[in-house]
Amino acid sequence: MRSYSLIAPAKINLYLEIIGDRPDGYHELAMILQSIDLADQIEVRSLSTDNIRVHCHHPQVPTDKSNLAYRAAELMATQFPDAFSNYGGVEITIKKQIPVAAGLAGGSTNAAAVLVGIDLLWHLGLTQSELEELGATLGSDVPFCIAGGTAIATGRGEQLAPLPNLAPIHLVLAKYRSLEVSTPWAYKTYRQQFGSTYIRDSDNLAARASAVHSGAIVKAILNQDAAEISQKLHNDLERVVLPAYPQVLQLRELFATQPGVLGTMMSGSGPTVFAIAQSLQLAEAIKLNVRQAIPDEDLELFVTRTTTHGIQIVPI
Ligand code: ATP
Repeated sequence: MRSYSLIAPAKINLYLEIIGDRPDGYHELAMILQSIDLADQIEVRSLSTDNIRVHCHHPQVPTDKSNLAYRAAELMATQFPDAFSNYGGVEITIKKQIPVAAGLAGGSTNAAAVLVGIDLLWHLGLTQSELEELGATLGSDVPFCIAGGTAIATGRGEQLAPLPNLAPIHLVLAKYRSLEVSTPWAYKTYRQQFGSTYIRDSDNLAARASAVHSGAIVKAILNQDAAEISQKLHNDLERVVLPAYPQVLQLRELFATQPGVLGTMMSGSGPTVFAIAQSLQLAEAIKLNVRQAIPDEDLELFVTRTTTHGIQIVPI
């Protein structure tokens, strides 16, 4: 085959706890990551020349080396130079559905799809853990995006422990198109304001374990209890993002008062806010209510649901 088409789902954070500082400058995290049905479509195609090319119609997505999908292809070319010279370059086409700079891992899931796609194009036969290891060098969220589903992520987010698949949970997502929150800013501000509560020695396993409070939500996931999961949603970064971005706070408060909402939270460093709905019908009603309350065209709203997979190959 000279081309593959792949589905690259976004993720939300059901849980994000900042545990401490790490010697490498990142933060020690405890997260629960969840794939959702909102997805980009990625096509990877072999070229007869040795270039890497990226096409994307979305105005906020770069097509040069700063695109994470480009960097994924470049990484494969450096790691597997023989395959690169055998099979030639790669053309990547991204059909964007996932809002950009949203806290939904849009770039990371594109990169994950390119790793999976090139593995197929070049007949490399890499294992999931080999792909995850490569992904971790591109970004903390990339390894999760490969297999997706529901997982506990620790370290800087790249160390994964899968959780059992959840039966679909209906969601409403809200994001202002023009609003971006810088992830480095959010973590830096959190460190400035709340760094005194960190554990300092992140190599101390016992100290690290006692600092993590995700037990209750993990139990709710194991029990497949959507109502309990919704009650235990948590994101430390809300403490810095909500006060600084009144629009995000407003969405969060509006969701919380809607009939049929079981729980609501910001995803990652934002600015996307999601609500867990009791049913698909109620999710549609919540979307409609929010649209009526905020008729601003800049506000994007999506009804979606949790999914059990990461990157998938589209059968031709
Ligand atoms: P995360 O949840 O992993 O922090 P995000 O969802 O907040 O990621 P992205 O959608 O990945 O953010 O976009 C972050 C920045 O990366 C944007 O400013 C965008 O221009 C750039 N970018 C690079 N490659 C891509 C890509 N393939 N898709 C989307 N954005 C990309």
